[in-house]
Amino acid sequence: MNTTEYKIYIDDVIRRVENARLKVSPHHIVKIIAVSKYSTASEIEKLYKIGQRAFGENKVQDLKAKAQELEAYPLEWHMIGNLQKNKINHFLDLHPALFHALDSLELAQELQKRLEAKNMILDTLLQINSAKEESKHGVMPELACGVYKQIQNECPNINLKGVMSIGAHSEDKEIIKKSFETTYAIYKQCNGATICSMGMSGDFELAIACGSNMVRLGSVMFDK
Ligand SMILES: *Cc1c(COP(=O)(O)O)cnc(C)c1O
Repeated sequence: MNTTEYKIYIDDVIRRVENARLKVSPHHIVKIIAVSKYSTASEIEKLYKIGQRAFGENKVQDLKAKAQELEAYPLEWHMIGNLQKNKINHFLDLHPALFHALDSLELAQELQKRLEAKNMILDTLLQINSAKEESKHGVMPELACGVYKQIQNECPNINLKGVMSIGAHSEDKEIIKKSFETTYAIYKQCNGATICSMGMSGDFELAIACGSNMVRLGSVMFDK
């Protein structure tokens, strides 16, 4: 696609997000994170040039490589994948805008130590395993509020801003919806939470209908 065709294509994605959010309320604002994990730096640049600023990666090394390659642009980098303990320092040195995938109290405690040593604050979301799937990371829904509170109390350098979840892996829309509703209910119970990150290319309209205010769109943003 050339730039004009690409812009028309992206406008269509934005229109879909817009329609979904307006069905919730005119005051319901949804932020789009363009997930660039399958895309090259030049594809990211193309999308930036038509107005997209926030990008998401799921691996520390890819985030680092792309952030370096594109350092001339004021991009906002989101880490959406799970974080291994041995990568924490590399990760923090990239100064990400938001970490979506804090998935255990143990990782929070390790992060807290490194953050304190670097005198840094990290904006973070607690990942919830809403459909209790073995293949997924995240805190179990029944433990989520307690863990959220405990991190708030014990980890002053982790600034918890809300929750993140991946919709249930199912063909059944009702099951996916239920997983989003579970996440949203937790989000509403967490003290001070303002971000509910849920919805990907295949299910973002449903996620927004269930209360998501941050969608992570990969394939649909990059025409993959
Ligand atoms: C890859 C990924 C996405 C985007 O997936 P698409 O289906 O391509 O939109 C969103 N969130 C997470 C955590 C991902 O790993």
